[in-house]
Amino acid sequence: MALPIPRRSRSTTPTSARRPLRWFARWAAAALVVTGITIFVLDNGPDTRGAAQSARARAGLIADSVLQGVLRPDDLRSPPKSPRRAALDRSFRRQVLRDGVLRATVRGPAGAITYAGAAHSGQNGPTVTTTVPLSVGSAHGTLTLDQDAAVLGGSGGPPLKPLLGIVAVLLAGLGLAMAPTLRRHRKRLRHHAAEMEQMQHQAFHDTLTGLPNRALFHDRVEQALRASRRDGSAVAVMLMDLDRFKEINDTFGHLAGDRLLCEVGEHIGHALRDSDSVARLGGDEFAVLADRVAGPVGAMALAERALQEVERTYAVCGVELDVDASIGIALFPHHGRDVEALLRCADIAMYQSKASGAPTLYALEHDHHSADRLALGTQLRRALSQGEIVVHYQPKADFGSGRISSVEALVRWQHSERGLLAPDQFIPLAEQTGLIRQLTTLVLDSALAQCRRWSDAGLDLSVAVNITGRDLLDQRFSETVKSLLHKWEVPPSHLELEITENTVLSDPIRARTVLLALSDFGVRLAIDDFGSGNSSLSYLKRLPINVLKIDKSFVLQMHIDDDDAVIVRSTIDLGHNLGLKVVAEGVNSIRAWNRLRQLGCDMAQGYYLSRPVPGPEIEVLLAAERASAAIEYAEAVAQEHEELTSELTSEPEPDPGLPLSS
Ligand code: C2E
Ligand code: MG
Ligand code: MG
Repeated sequence: MALPIPRRSRSTTPTSARRPLRWFARWAAAALVVTGITIFVLDNGPDTRGAAQSARARAGLIADSVLQGVLRPDDLRSPPKSPRRAALDRSFRRQVLRDGVLRATVRGPAGAITYAGAAHSGQNGPTVTTTVPLSVGSAHGTLTLDQDAAVLGGSGGPPLKPLLGIVAVLLAGLGLAMAPTLRRHRKRLRHHAAEMEQMQHQAFHDTLTGLPNRALFHDRVEQALRASRRDGSAVAVMLMDLDRFKEINDTFGHLAGDRLLCEVGEHIGHALRDSDSVARLGGDEFAVLADRVAGPVGAMALAERALQEVERTYAVCGVELDVDASIGIALFPHHGRDVEALLRCADIAMYQSKASGAPTLYALEHDHHSADRLALGTQLRRALSQGEIVVHYQPKADFGSGRISSVEALVRWQHSERGLLAPDQFIPLAEQTGLIRQLTTLVLDSALAQCRRWSDAGLDLSVAVNITGRDLLDQRFSETVKSLLHKWEVPPSHLELEITENTVLSDPIRARTVLLALSDFGVRLAIDDFGSGNSSLSYLKRLPINVLKIDKSFVLQMHIDDDDAVIVRSTIDLGHNLGLKVVAEGVNSIRAWNRLRQLGCDMAQGYYLSRPVPGPEIEVLLAAERASAAIEYAEAVAQEHEELTSELTSEPEPDPGLPLSS
């Protein structure tokens, strides 16, 4: 669910602080309206209606009773003559034209006036005129009275208008009295709202750097994922942390550490586009969100830019600090469907980046706990027992004779769905799931069985098998090797075990014990990938090693990189000085072959001779003796080329093909 986070800071006058003002205005308006309506209603409504009613009642009373004793039927039929008229004037003045009755008019049946009389006192105010039927004996007519409205209205109820006036004044007074209280209240509310806004900012931002924190970052990633689901674009989530930050903190103090974090946060921002965001998740960990990235390539480019921005010298608290950082990248939708999954993948990639020193994109093989990887672990167990694990062989040739004298066994997994898997894709998994010993035993068994078959076919080939640190931790390992040699009746001198430098170094004492036991038995030992690890030569010297294999990365690069050429030459010299045979891996061209032979290297392994192939294909290679033919050919060509190419630049030479395996 999205958090109610303001993207940009809004107006500082909070709505709650404006509320009292509005309330006061409404209250005043309501008071005025209510008072006005009341006055209006009381003034025009009930007063007027009441006057008309009492006027009519009084006219009815006069017509029905008072005038019955005053008028005669003839007075309605025609206007009375003089003496009668004077008598009527007197009677009317006495009995009718009084108490607010200002004028009385009597009409006959045809509507003609037969008598009219008025009161003496004049009146200018409003009057109420009422006409009622009048019957005297058999004569019928009407009586019309004009009555003083003031006399009629003033007769009922209390004086409301002054009362309402007082109420209105009181209400206004109350409003005025409340105004300072309301103002105080409003001030307090405004303060409160500002505090709330600050608290909200703190809840979603890092206090040290002011950058968004984890909660806000989470929310932004969610928004980006929603947009991406709509338009199908890719989103990158990156995690960056500083190498050795703890050391910096401990050595130069927290103040320097804090200042450094602020500067790093700023620098990451410089590398990003406007639409990207950077957050600090805690400690020295920063996160970057980049939406609409151009796939893995775009994300890598952005990460490299960020790394370049961050990796620099910072002048902080009077000291100069060199900063290195690691970046792990996860992509949506490739690596995860939600924020949590993406952060998890970016974290795994970041740890990988620490090892490689370069921005790293998440890859399944880094992830020891993903569902896919767990599934592969289960499948590997089954594969071991169901014959899906196969061994291929890559020949090694002597520079001296040009002949293939041995092979290296290289394992593959013939996966039913994923095809042929290279060892890098499952050896680490086998190590983590405890299946490596079973795997090594299987490869050893297959390689020695193959060796026996070759021997039976008259081919004298020794075989090299790769082993890991885990194998060396097993005290029974040397016994396993011996019993397999025995099982296939292969002489120990025909088996070479290859171990990498780091493998030996993980538990040198135990490794030495196992290696000594094997060497004593007659098995040959090789240090694989020499030059790529951190081995200590003094230590290696104490091991019963027979062979040094130069790491292929140096051999592949020696034509274009002088440093690599120097490493290759010195490794050959070093190996010879220690009394070891030196093998070059990665020999993929005739040029490399010639160069290494000149340098005195003992053996070559590489695509120039053959790629790793199934066992029977090695037999084909040997039987046709194409290896020797190819190398003789290569030598002839090389000699021709020598004069021509001595001045050549260090351009890499294209692979001329696979002379032995094709
Ligand atoms: P490695 O022992 O250094 O084996 C040499 C690797 O270099 C092989 O890769 C091989 O195919 C490759 N290679 C050989 N010549 C050339 C070349 O001219 N150019 C290039 N680019 N590559 C070349 P592969 O078979 O993929 O094996 C990779 C690594 O896996 C091996 O490196 C070894 O460390 C490990 N491995 C292979 N089989 C086993 C095994 O049975 N057990 C154990 N524990 N590890 C094994
Ligand atoms: Mg090897
Ligand atoms: Mg190697």
